Amino acid sequence: MSAVQLVVTDLDGSLLDHHDYSYAPALPVLQVLEEMRVPVVFASSKTRAEMLALRKELGNEHPFIVENGAAVLIPEGYFLKAPEHTELRDGYWVRELAPPRQQWAAPLAALRASMPGAFEDFASAGTEGIVAMTGLSVEKAALANEREYSEPVQWRGDDDGLEAFLATLDDAGARVLKGGRFYSVAGDCDKGQALAWLREQYRLAASAAAVYDLAVGDGANDVPMLEIAHRALVIPAPDRPLPALTRDEGVIVGEGMGPVAWAWGVREWLRSLYQTPEER
Ligand SMILES: [Mg+2]
Repeated sequence: MSAVQLVVTDLDGSLLDHHDYSYAPALPVLQVLEEMRVPVVFASSKTRAEMLALRKELGNEHPFIVENGAAVLIPEGYFLKAPEHTELRDGYWVRELAPPRQQWAAPLAALRASMPGAFEDFASAGTEGIVAMTGLSVEKAALANEREYSEPVQWRGDDDGLEAFLATLDDAGARVLKGGRFYSVAGDCDKGQALAWLREQYRLAASAAAVYDLAVGDGANDVPMLEIAHRALVIPAPDRPLPALTRDEGVIVGEGMGPVAWAWGVREWLRSLYQTPEER
């Protein structure tokens, strides 16, 4: 039986530059992966709409993981048959791992009333507010607000307030993940659970004995997939320490930042695939 190779990557701060969202330094390596037929799966806090736009721009036709693992979308026909527990929607087999975004509107409204000014979320900020928070264009901010499963929150209060805020959401059944710039309020999902499910679909489709996946990320919301992947590539960020992992085997720390570190680290990983076990 054969093995499948797979790259699963975070976008902001990893494949995309933290400041200007450029992926230019990674293009040559993306090309190599394409030629080697190694799928590159985007796994982001971004929405389906945002990720569709980037996939189109990059000519990426592989499955993708939206909103921090809330759902996995696989292009219809990508595998020979529809994976179990998926629903066909707009040309994608969709595996949902979280409840709809609407679930978090009421608890957030109650929190807004009890701690005014302490936070801003995308739903109440609207497109213009999102532009102000992110620096995205109006068009991209609108895409960012087309969320289906999660609510991004920018914390503006103090640490004590944050603790109370997180505890209240926890009581409401939410899982709050810290991304680069925002907290993401969603159901009990993460990029690791999404990767575990998707990896199994690749394995089944190829009748493969193993999937050698490389997870790439720079933030705390990437930790669940960085922990469970066969190899992890950690991307240094300009404004915070590396995400802490419990594993130390099979971890590559990128040289540089963002897409520069991405390209460097993925090359290292590709080289390691062709080394004998003793050399690893
Ligand atoms: Mg990131």
